[in-house]
Amino acid sequence: MNFEKHCWAEVDLDALAHNFRLLQQHAGSAAVCAVVKAGAYGHGDGIVCRTLADAGAKWFAVSCLAEALHLRSGGVTGEILILGHTDPACAATLACHRLTQAVFSPEYAQALSSAALEAGARVRCHLKIDTGMGRLGFIARCEEDIPACLDQLEACFGLEGLEITGMFQHFAVADSHAAADVEYTNRQHSLFVQVKEGLEARGYKLRTVHCCNSAALVEHPEWGMDLVRPGIVLYGCDPSDEVHLDGLRPVLTLKTVVSQVKELLPGQALSYGLQFTADAPRKVATLCVGYADGYPRLLSGKGVCSIGGHAAPVLGRVCMDQMMVDVTGLDDVKEGDEAVVFGGPGADSLNDVASKVGSIPYEIMCGLALRVPRVYL
Ligand code: PLP
Repeated sequence: MNFEKHCWAEVDLDALAHNFRLLQQHAGSAAVCAVVKAGAYGHGDGIVCRTLADAGAKWFAVSCLAEALHLRSGGVTGEILILGHTDPACAATLACHRLTQAVFSPEYAQALSSAALEAGARVRCHLKIDTGMGRLGFIARCEEDIPACLDQLEACFGLEGLEITGMFQHFAVADSHAAADVEYTNRQHSLFVQVKEGLEARGYKLRTVHCCNSAALVEHPEWGMDLVRPGIVLYGCDPSDEVHLDGLRPVLTLKTVVSQVKELLPGQALSYGLQFTADAPRKVATLCVGYADGYPRLLSGKGVCSIGGHAAPVLGRVCMDQMMVDVTGLDDVKEGDEAVVFGGPGADSLNDVASKVGSIPYEIMCGLALRVPRVYL
């Protein structure tokens, strides 16, 4: 036991590689672009990318230039797609590091091309189409938008500072089976196909066209096109309660140690606000983890950890760096024992944590604090 690590996150790299291979199988002929933004959803982007590259990944997607440069400086040589905005003034950096930038409007395309030309560079781009997410993209939210959208896209091909190699869009509700959401997703897909075919009819055939996030890949592998962009499923979580892929293995387990074990007598209370009072004798273990580590305070009185594979429910309020769990009946529990906070046998899964606090596993993963060391297995 290393007590320097009062709380740590174990990342199972075999499980990660397994999930990648499973998704590649599911995707058929489409290549899998691993979405590794936000430090690979909190898992640590450098080692995640190296593991995935060894498993066959050739594409990685990040949210911004800083993340892309972090991957390059960590030795990632594959294709890197920046999904979000990059200041056009950084055109030379984009080109110099062989990064592919999402281009999402006529104005942005023009600005990026001009900056690239000024720097004597050419920036590789994927055109981003907004078929209904409403975030970034050339607007094609209904059939009537398509002719103008095609005109705008066609104009981009005339910009000498851009090398346009691909096109993509992003689904808003592919993780839902509600009838209206299924219809919305189908419509987004249909609009995207119409844009793709419209461009082809005008003589522009792109090498790398893609539309699927995790949920769409799980539900519609036939929509894979050239590339798919899964994130959450790589890390072993289903995209939602409604969308499930058999065979995924969990990747992340948050662990800590017991710092003290004590008895609580009937009528005695604990933690800030004295929100829990014992109605009978209780054995309580204090754990070295709290909300400053990324364990949601909203799990006060709701979370379930485990010690030795046995459930240990959270008692009272979660503190900044510590919290207490109920180990009544677990006679062997003692100071120094390892505890699973979430993501392991007997404890809440990431999905359990997320649903108990009205969130999604994405936010729980990304919310793991920097001070929590990642331990790679
Ligand atoms: N593509 C884009 C544009 C995204 O923003 C994201 C993540 O939010 C993904 C793909 C991956 O999504 P998911 O983790 O649901 O697979």
